[in-house]
Amino acid sequence: MTTLAKSPIQRLRITLHGAVQGVGFRPFVYRLATEMDLTGWVMNSSAGLVVEVEGAADQVRLFEERLERDRPKASVVSARESALIAVEGSTAFRIVASDADSGKSVNVLPDLATCVECREELFDPANRRFKYPFTNCTNCGPRYTIVVDIPYDRPNTTMRDFVLCPECYSEYKNPANRRFHAQPNACPVCGPKLDGTIEDAAEALLEGNIVALKGIGGFQLLVDARQPDAVVRLRQRKHREEKPFALMMPSLEVARQYCEISPAEVELLESQAAPIVLLQPKPGTDLAWNVAHCSPYLGVMLPYSPLHHLLMQECRFPIVATSGNHSDEPIAIANDEATTRLRDIADHYLMHNRPIVRACDDSVVRLTRGHAGILRRARGYAPLGVRVAKTLPPVLAVGGHLKNTVAIAVGQDVFLSQHIGDLDTVEARAAFARAIDDLCRLYAFKPEAVVCDLHPDYASTQWAEKSGLPLIRVQHHQAHVAACAAENNVDGAYLGISWDGTGYGLDGTIWGGEFFHVEADNFERIAHLRPFRLPGGDAAVREGWRSAASLIFEVFGPQAVNPETGEPASGKPRLADSNIRYMLERDINVVATTSVGRLFDAVACLAGIARENRFEGQAAMLLENEIGHLRTEEAYALPGGDWGPLILSVMADAQAGVAVPLISARFHNALTNWILEVASRAGLKQIVLSGGVFQNRYLTEHAATALESRGFVVHTHQQVPPNDGGIALGQVVMAR
Ligand SMILES: [Zn+2]
Ligand SMILES: [Zn+2]
Ligand SMILES: [Zn+2]
Repeated sequence: MTTLAKSPIQRLRITLHGAVQGVGFRPFVYRLATEMDLTGWVMNSSAGLVVEVEGAADQVRLFEERLERDRPKASVVSARESALIAVEGSTAFRIVASDADSGKSVNVLPDLATCVECREELFDPANRRFKYPFTNCTNCGPRYTIVVDIPYDRPNTTMRDFVLCPECYSEYKNPANRRFHAQPNACPVCGPKLDGTIEDAAEALLEGNIVALKGIGGFQLLVDARQPDAVVRLRQRKHREEKPFALMMPSLEVARQYCEISPAEVELLESQAAPIVLLQPKPGTDLAWNVAHCSPYLGVMLPYSPLHHLLMQECRFPIVATSGNHSDEPIAIANDEATTRLRDIADHYLMHNRPIVRACDDSVVRLTRGHAGILRRARGYAPLGVRVAKTLPPVLAVGGHLKNTVAIAVGQDVFLSQHIGDLDTVEARAAFARAIDDLCRLYAFKPEAVVCDLHPDYASTQWAEKSGLPLIRVQHHQAHVAACAAENNVDGAYLGISWDGTGYGLDGTIWGGEFFHVEADNFERIAHLRPFRLPGGDAAVREGWRSAASLIFEVFGPQAVNPETGEPASGKPRLADSNIRYMLERDINVVATTSVGRLFDAVACLAGIARENRFEGQAAMLLENEIGHLRTEEAYALPGGDWGPLILSVMADAQAGVAVPLISARFHNALTNWILEVASRAGLKQIVLSGGVFQNRYLTEHAATALESRGFVVHTHQQVPPNDGGIALGQVVMAR
């Protein structure tokens, strides 16, 4: 018998980039290396996680495999480098202290929902953290909202003022413990404390009061979701007419009483990001009618912090949980700020003394094409990087005007800020400027240039113009498709379909129904919606009937239909003398548009669904919702994007009393057919769908299915929203 040749000794150095800190990676590496009889060390560096292992070559190889396969599930590895280096003859495996220098390219981790183990401890009367609202471990807890600087170590977080008690310290120092280097580690002895009690807050809710709760990414406003009067009061005080409110449910079981939830949706609800998931409501529940009466969905989340778990355990009923602000303003994060700014909204406060560094809203997702379609990217996702195929110049992108996010490019990583919101108020603009400072400081980033939208009136554009940095202007709809192509690593030429509400076109008109043949850096606009005029410009974004009036005017002439109401005339066409007619006849105060979003508004109005948008995209959402479970391939004609025949048919159907679901389906299908028409002409295999219109799930899925059945490869958004919340990514990758 021959003995097996002994494997030679090797030393391997591995560097992992991505979200690899604060997730228990070092103890995992320590346990793995020790178990496999390997020596060396592991270290958090500001460039990532660095491991050196030394031992038998086959063991070293196996270690590399297991490092990938068994790594902590909260970690996100965006890139790895490994190289064999000189053997050092080390005799043990160690965890060495973080190094604080070199480039700051390591991802900051998002806030993670409470893990199963921490949840069990929370409700275990024998545990020393029983009912402690700030318990966490390396697998869960706050991250992004408490980190002041990187590397992510306790002195760089808002936990620095809480000195670990001996018991917490020994957990923190023990590589075998779940709380080894858990930076926010805390207990009732040494950690943050509540100001107020959970019982009192629950009582206040039950009595119909509005409770301001200091959560993870800022204050939330809560009311009992079963009490319509309480919801009315919240709407009035917050100045939020109809926009749906999100709910926090005590548990998945309770959520199931109110909504249809598929297994994939359960996964989203229970994920570490714990976002608001848009679900199909069940009829006949005790939910207040005015929680989300204008939406086909219910936005539902599960408790994601120990404080939420404790409160929901006490309540056991659904509560409205909305951001702690007046509409259009940033969320309050500091205690004194909350008691001042929310004074005229909240009846009761539940606060604590763990500071929040930056505001981070709850994220919103909806299952689309079988995966999470992110509609608002904030807590749980921000500030994870999006890794792109090419190395980018160090630029800052300032995003759009609505649903603003900003982004920076660091090598191949694009770091997007959390959702900042619409930039209509002074407060929102200040928050926008703060977010830019914050992101740059966190990554020690010095932009060489700033990228902004072409629109001169966007607050973000104006900020960029005053920044003193070299300015790069990027067309809105090109940025949309570039973002989607970048996050999907689309290689080679593609057809970019950019359908949107509004956006500044290269010709000074309002675009939003564009097809681009994209090859390398070249965007050729190969098709678009037949332009029509928006009377009153921006007013038409809110008042969708104006788009309807304009299209009727074009199709039937000024005599045909009442352009003031935009409604189809029954019987004899009636002419109203109006400002709108005046504008259209004299071609004044009108702006040309190719926006598919505005076409949705017009059709929603003509079908009798909605005359205006009380919140962005409402009419389109209601129109989509009409389709329900109806499945048909019937479609209106929309030849070459000419809406003339379509408007005639919609009017005729509406007058003939054709069911609205069928009108809506025929309209949506017409859009798919137009996509197919252009796609088959363009001769490009890859299709990229982006822009606010593709928040429409029916359209996205219907068009994607039709395209795929004809052999096209379809790319839709996964990591950033299709709306303007994702546009900063496109701006970054288009910078040159
Ligand atoms: Zn935990
Ligand atoms: Zn302690
Ligand atoms: Zn847009």
